[in-house]
Amino acid sequence: MELVTVKTFDSYFLANIILGRLQSDGVECYLKDEATITMDPILTNAIGGIKLIVKKEDEGAVTAILKRYDEEYLNAATCPQCGAHQFSYIAKPGVTNFLTAVTTTLFGSYALATDYVYQCGNCGYETERLPGYESEESNEEIN
Ligand SMILES: [Zn+2]
Repeated sequence: MELVTVKTFDSYFLANIILGRLQSDGVECYLKDEATITMDPILTNAIGGIKLIVKKEDEGAVTAILKRYDEEYLNAATCPQCGAHQFSYIAKPGVTNFLTAVTTTLFGSYALATDYVYQCGNCGYETERLPGYESEESNEEIN
């Protein structure tokens, strides 16, 4: 049986949410390198994040499901400025891939979050975290 990585996460919390949703949708999947990252988040980038592993034959279907999750996630967020449900996840302009790579290496996954923002398609409001989104801070309870 051939296994492939369909997605990588730098958040233990998010990785487990996605894993749980896929499994409840009947998808056979696993997280790889989860234990290492939970013990030492600094290693996350060094080993490429938490990997979501599925069977090769399921790759296409799982990719489609993940895309649907992303859309549901974005559509569920309400813009605090105009009330629209039109967020998209975009890269901030003016940051080169090289710089991103360097800051990510130096400062770990937290630096990466500043290079992307959620932007409201209606009014242009930008935020690094979607309203109501539970962030990495929740890890303390899990650990
Ligand atoms: Zn807005």
